[in-house]
Amino acid sequence: MSTVAGVGLDREELRERYRVEREKRLRADGTDQYVRIAGEYAHFEDDPYVAPGFTRPPRTDDVEVALIGGGFGGLLTGARLHQLGVEDVRIIEKGGDVGGTWYWNRYPGIACDVESYVYIPLLEELDYVPVEKYSRGEEIQAHCRRIAEHFDLYRNAMLQSRVTEVRWDEGVRRWIITTDRGDAIRARFVTLANGFLQKPKLPGIPGLATFRGRAFHTSRWEYSYTGGDARGNLTGLVDKRVGIIGTGATAVQCVPHLGAAAAHLYVFQRTPSSIDVRANRPTDPDWAGLLEPGWQQRRIENFQVLTAGGWSEEDLVADGWTDITRKLLSVSVQQGNPDLSPEAIAEMLETADFLKMEEIRARVDELVADPATAEALKPWYRQFCKRPCFHDEYLQTFNRKNVTLVDTRGRGVERITEDGVVVDGTTYELDCLIFATGFEVGTSYSRRAGFEIVGRGGRTLTEHWANGVRTFHGIHIHGFPNLFMNSTAQSALTVNFPYLIDLQARHAAWTIAEALARDIGEVEASAEAEAGWVDEVVTRAARSAQFSEGCTPGYYNNEGTADAKSRQGTFFFGAPTEYAEILETWRAEGTMEGLECR
Ligand code: NDP
Repeated sequence: MSTVAGVGLDREELRERYRVEREKRLRADGTDQYVRIAGEYAHFEDDPYVAPGFTRPPRTDDVEVALIGGGFGGLLTGARLHQLGVEDVRIIEKGGDVGGTWYWNRYPGIACDVESYVYIPLLEELDYVPVEKYSRGEEIQAHCRRIAEHFDLYRNAMLQSRVTEVRWDEGVRRWIITTDRGDAIRARFVTLANGFLQKPKLPGIPGLATFRGRAFHTSRWEYSYTGGDARGNLTGLVDKRVGIIGTGATAVQCVPHLGAAAAHLYVFQRTPSSIDVRANRPTDPDWAGLLEPGWQQRRIENFQVLTAGGWSEEDLVADGWTDITRKLLSVSVQQGNPDLSPEAIAEMLETADFLKMEEIRARVDELVADPATAEALKPWYRQFCKRPCFHDEYLQTFNRKNVTLVDTRGRGVERITEDGVVVDGTTYELDCLIFATGFEVGTSYSRRAGFEIVGRGGRTLTEHWANGVRTFHGIHIHGFPNLFMNSTAQSALTVNFPYLIDLQARHAAWTIAEALARDIGEVEASAEAEAGWVDEVVTRAARSAQFSEGCTPGYYNNEGTADAKSRQGTFFFGAPTEYAEILETWRAEGTMEGLECR
């Protein structure tokens, strides 16, 4: 028996258990197991947060910069442009307000479990300190509105406007943006900030369309039916049998509220999440009062370093996210003078991971009374195979008499009927079925965005990316002048998305401001610069492929079917601070190397 760090865990046994659990979940249809929200399913994407009947006359004017998407991507790019004196900016947003993720996701219990002081951007600039260590969704959405107001981004914004195409017009050297409101806006620069996890997906379960009760996706919560609000109190469900499919980060947050309200709640689980301690607490006013200028950026960078497995004397955030790194350090200290070969480091990482996951599994036994239910709620994979979750009421919800965990043992729901959900031949009759089944990742960019981007010579982005994503710095694309991506593809891997978004926002804003100042008509990635970045990403992705291939399926590894093409579209795979340094150095040099300036 090869024991782990002298604590009696059998390394081979754990590896084998993880492998078996992964095998159970692998499916030949990979990402095709999900159905596209269109046609008979189109209503699953309707905006429940706006009054119906909004109209306005079409617009055909000019703007310097169009920001497609009013989430953190559009807002931060707008803010950074404003700081550089570029004011002729327009956000074009399909929702009824800014906020993106925080506009759409309003389900009961919604909160962010990345610490608010590092997650919420521009705190110092806007003189705001969040009220809790982990913010609720409403507070973050309100902060999005605060950013839009502070940087004057509402004045020119077009809300409830869904982009239908973005096309480069060679004649006028402008992008033409058309929308479902009949608009044709001309923009000199465009930032695509239409979001990463934004296109809801539904599982292609047989009978999906036949259910006669109420059904909706968590990102379009129907409070008109459930009653209550993001804080719970779902009075409309007191006499309802409710089912929820999915047990990812979203379900973990809303299940306690559903359990508290529904006559009966059935939670249909395919793979359990890892649920660590959350320990939220109000912000200490004394602490907030002593914060010194520059505190937020220092805290953000400290968190980036630690969550990327780097070394820092201090751990300012000190929570579940940084705990894995602390465990790793303690393993290496236990080993005295550790061997630092790549193999030895990989083994130490695995050891730290085993220790962490044992702790997570022990927590389930501590909190869940019924042993069979507890067993079913234990995750058997490495912590970062799926998004780790943090919650202090989720597991206890399964101790309620009106809550049943229906564990599908990795297979997923068998069938949906007019009356409910079938698992192992048993029908669970339901009045309401909620899909906590996540968002499209790994489908084509234009499918997720909902529009095509047509660049120089009429070439579409779909054509340009037919064999895999191609960018320079994860931001510029050859053949698409004056266009900037704000996206995870080929950019830094971080658990704190606004950090990445802001890096790209600053970079795009700087490039636009420089192009305007230097009177450059077009900036576009050269074919060579793009090829160089793609090669770098592919090389780095190959190094981490082994980890991801050993993982249980999910959107992190293209449902366990990650191939060279899909790996090319993933992150840049370095510490996020390394990505930041690459961009900062490039800007400091000021030569715009890799861009063709015309
Ligand atoms: P996920 O994609 O993480 O979860 C989808 C869930 O649906 C999984 O449990 C999946 O099971 C399940 N599922 C899919 N198909 C079936 C099926 N046929 N039968 C049964 N179950 C099925 O989506 P979420 O919305 O939960 O989270 C998306 C992301 O949003 C997170 O990863 C995180 O990045 C972010 N987020 C962050 C939050 C936070 O800060 N706390 C809160 C919420 C979301 P399986 O695992 O087997 O595929």
